[in-house]
Amino acid sequence: MTQRVYNFSAGPAVLPEKVLLQVQEEMLCLPGVGASILEISHRSGEFIAIIEEAAANIRSLLSISNDYDVLFLQGGGRLQFSMVPMNLLRPGDSADYILTGSWGKNALKEAKKVGQTRVAWDGAEFDFDRLPADAELSLDPQASFVHITSNETIEGVQFAAEPETGDVPLACDASSDFLSRPLAIDKYGLIYACAQKNVGPAGVTIVVIRKDLLSRSDAKLPGYMNYQVHAENDSLWNTAPTFPIYVVNLVTRWIRDEFGDLTKLAEANRAKAATLYDELDASEGFYRGHAVPECRSMMNVTFRLPSDELTSKFVKEAKQEGLDALKGHRSVGGVRASIYNAMPLAGVEALVDFMKDFARRHG
Ligand SMILES: *Cc1c(COP(=O)(O)O)cnc(C)c1O
Repeated sequence: MTQRVYNFSAGPAVLPEKVLLQVQEEMLCLPGVGASILEISHRSGEFIAIIEEAAANIRSLLSISNDYDVLFLQGGGRLQFSMVPMNLLRPGDSADYILTGSWGKNALKEAKKVGQTRVAWDGAEFDFDRLPADAELSLDPQASFVHITSNETIEGVQFAAEPETGDVPLACDASSDFLSRPLAIDKYGLIYACAQKNVGPAGVTIVVIRKDLLSRSDAKLPGYMNYQVHAENDSLWNTAPTFPIYVVNLVTRWIRDEFGDLTKLAEANRAKAATLYDELDASEGFYRGHAVPECRSMMNVTFRLPSDELTSKFVKEAKQEGLDALKGHRSVGGVRASIYNAMPLAGVEALVDFMKDFARRHG
C-alpha cells in the first residue's frame, strides 16, 4: 500500500505529514551536520541544540516557568508509574490515586509495589464512563501526592479541569493529551507523557517536574530512576533517545507554525471531537458513546454498535475505506477513534460520512 490512510490508532499514532516528510528529507544528512540524526553523538553541539530547542518549545507552548524542569526520559508511561512513587513518596506517607480508567489502575498497581497508597476515588462502579466532582474525592491532606490520568485513552474520559488538591502536589499522567490544549501548569507538581500519542514516536517520555520536588529523590535510588540525576544532567545522564527527541522537536515546531498556540490547537481538537460526538448523538442509539457527555475525551472517542458482529463489520469495512485502526482496546471492545493533534478534520469528516452510510445500511 502506498496511499496513506486516515490512521485512528491509539498509539503509536498519526504524526503530521509535514514532519514525516522533513524527517525523510533529512534522514541521510541533517542540514549543516553532514551526518544523519541517527549517527551523531547525544553530546554533540548539534544534538544539544535540538534537545534544548525541544525543551524551549514545550516550555513556550505550555508557558512553563523556571520553577519547573523539563526532562526527556525513556521507559514510556509505564516506567513513570514506578518512578513517580519512587521519587515523590515520602517515607511513612501514602499517595492518593484517583482511578478514572485502565491507565490509572495500571499506575496504582505499580505504585503499590513501591509504598503505601490510597484510592481517593474509583470510577469502576460506573464502568469508567465519568470523572469525579471535587466533592466526591476522599483526599488525604497528608498524602505525598495525588495521581490522576488526565485522559483515559482506553475508556475515552478526560478531565476538563484539574481536581483541587490543596497543598498536596498533583502528579498527572498526560500521556494521551499532552500538548493538545493549554494547562494551568502551576496546579501540577509533576506531569508526564510518553510521546507516541500526540507528540512524537515511541521511545521518549517527557516529564515536567516542579524543582522543589527534586529534593525528595533519595540518592540511593538507581541512577536512572532518580529525577534529580536527570535534572542535574539536562536529560543527558545516559544516552538520550536522540531520534525521538529530534522528531518531538519537529512536532513542537509544527504546532507553533500550524496553530500558533495551544489555545488554537485545542479549538481545532474540540471541533474535530464535536463532529464525531454530534454524529453519535444524532444516530438515534445506533452508535452509543461510552463516556457521559460532560466527561467526553477530545482525543479518544469510544462508542458501541448494537452488536459485536456489527462492530467487527464496521471496523473491517472502515479499513477498506482507508479509515484504519478503529477497533476498541481489547479490554473494553467497541470502537475507538483516536483523533490526536495530527489527525486532520478531513479524516474525522470521512469517518462521519462512513458512519452515516453504515448506519443507513444496518440501522
Ligand atoms: C499509552 C499510555 C500509557 C503507556 O505508555 P507506554 O509508553 O506504553 O508505557 C500510559 N498512560 C496513558 C494514559 C497512555 O495513554
